[in-house]
Amino acid sequence: MNLEEDKRKVIEKLIREGYIKSKRVIDALLKVPREEFIPEHLKKYAYVDTPLEIGYGQTISAIHMVGLMSELLDLKPGMKVLEVGTGCGYHAAVTAEIVGKDGLVVSIERIPELAERAERTLRKLGYDNVIVVVGDGTLGYEPLAPYDRIYVTAAGPKIPEPLIKQLKDGGKLLMPVGRYLQKLILAEKRGDQVIIKDCGPVAFVPLIGKEGFQ
Ligand code: SAM
Repeated sequence: MNLEEDKRKVIEKLIREGYIKSKRVIDALLKVPREEFIPEHLKKYAYVDTPLEIGYGQTISAIHMVGLMSELLDLKPGMKVLEVGTGCGYHAAVTAEIVGKDGLVVSIERIPELAERAERTLRKLGYDNVIVVVGDGTLGYEPLAPYDRIYVTAAGPKIPEPLIKQLKDGGKLLMPVGRYLQKLILAEKRGDQVIIKDCGPVAFVPLIGKEGFQ
């Protein structure tokens, strides 16, 4: 098992297929050890580009999806980002690499056991620019708002209003919308207006919460 080589190969494939192109996203994916975020018995599959089970009926996102979402959000160093759905913390770590030490990732997870485990992994790997919060992310996280970017890693019926409110003017939000047929939606806030773009079909676990599915 040569995980470093597997990682390099999958990232080269994602570049060839057009999912990722910016140096910032490529470097972040090369840096974060995905194997640290998944259960022991699945570690050999760490660089297979597919979601993997992480317990509690949840999954770690596929590598191409984390890369694509990072590109669509146009993440930059120094940004303050809200992630809804921490899961195992892998996607938060990739975002933390991109926003760097001057940036901040606030990540909300509704399942306390997953949040605790993600926090432990992120601390062990030295991601001090990530704050993990237990709660209903459909309500956002008001104490640290507003955010430059917000992304949701579970599919909801619509974009939750509190998330639009907590986005800075000029900020971008990315989330899967729909139950069975889902679309990845990019929303840009410009004053009172929200400009919506459909970024194509996706498949995510459901967003459960007050402004999500019940
Ligand atoms: N970001 C993760 C990663 O690194 O691969 C993947 C997250 S998984 C696809 C989606 C997560 O969203 C699950 O852990 C689920 O418990 C969480 N979730 C669902 N509804 C939520 C809500 N209302 N607030 C916070 N987390 C939620």
